[in-house]
Amino acid sequence: MVIVIRPDATGEQIDFITEKLKSYGYKLNVSKGVERTIIGAIGDENALRDRPVKTLPGVEDVIPILKPYKLVSRDFRKEDTVIDVKGVKIGGKELSVMAGPCSIESYEMIHEAARRASAHGAKVLRGGAFKPRTSPYSFQGMGPEALIYLRKAADEFGMVVVTELTDPRDIDIVSEYADILQIGARNMQNFRLLHEVGRQEKPVLLKRGMSATVKDFLLAAEHIANEGNLNIILCERGIRTFETETRNTLDLSCIPIIKSVSHLPIIADPSHGTGKKVCIGPMSLAAVAAGADGLMIEVHPCPEEALSDGDQSLTPDEYDEVMNRVEVIAGAVGRTVAK
Ligand code: PEP
Ligand code: MN
Repeated sequence: MVIVIRPDATGEQIDFITEKLKSYGYKLNVSKGVERTIIGAIGDENALRDRPVKTLPGVEDVIPILKPYKLVSRDFRKEDTVIDVKGVKIGGKELSVMAGPCSIESYEMIHEAARRASAHGAKVLRGGAFKPRTSPYSFQGMGPEALIYLRKAADEFGMVVVTELTDPRDIDIVSEYADILQIGARNMQNFRLLHEVGRQEKPVLLKRGMSATVKDFLLAAEHIANEGNLNIILCERGIRTFETETRNTLDLSCIPIIKSVSHLPIIADPSHGTGKKVCIGPMSLAAVAAGADGLMIEVHPCPEEALSDGDQSLTPDEYDEVMNRVEVIAGAVGRTVAK
């Protein structure tokens, strides 16, 4: 449930309310807004039956959260969450474009990708160092060396870094170089990993599992939030369907649905979402029209030579063209693209 505190409540009253709720066995998340304080209390609502909270001094209202996910739901926070990553805002009016190669293969290639992506709308540089590959014989990523290259290239062009964490044992090394920790589709329900990123402070980019429902997806986000980290960016990256022409089916209808039930920002990844270069432009436009807060696009200086996901990576020139069209749609739906 959500406890709305009166604007004129004193500090002592708020302390009294929180202590009372804790004594009833509730886990609390206190959100101090500009106008008022809101307390999210997670636990067995039956515990309250004979202990009314609404009458405690300083309480304005008590609203039950009926959804299975609580902290990430709109009932908990009415306004959209805007995440500030070193001054780069994710979830606001400006679209967050995250671009870069599937995997970092050398310093030169990530530098070139960063140069071209940052010149056209992208403030977040992506690139995998630890790659979760379906086959053990595919390129598995360069590991820690790639993180150094990624950081260096991002810093040179004033970008922030998102990269995937696949194993809780790598959290220190990945956090040393990354600004946003990515949890990939294959790990969306790796609960130990979700708890680990929930217990640290960097924002988390959570990708939808390929067979996850919207409810599974939001409950995975709730696992992170419940550990204390509410800076979560959701990413629709396609789900498995019977269709074989595309690698996945990009479920754009989940964007307005998620926006209506959750306050978290959500971006779309048409590269992994379709696996097909021809789909990336049109699906980027459609995602922005559907209300996505940003895009994740794979961009490689030479996709034919890519060690992973070349078929779904744009050349820098193709990326420029897509971004020119994204700017038009963004304008039509009241969004902007970074200059
Ligand atoms: C990626 O973004 O590098 C990736 C592996 O994506 P996904 O987890 O969506 O397959
Ligand atoms: Mn990829």
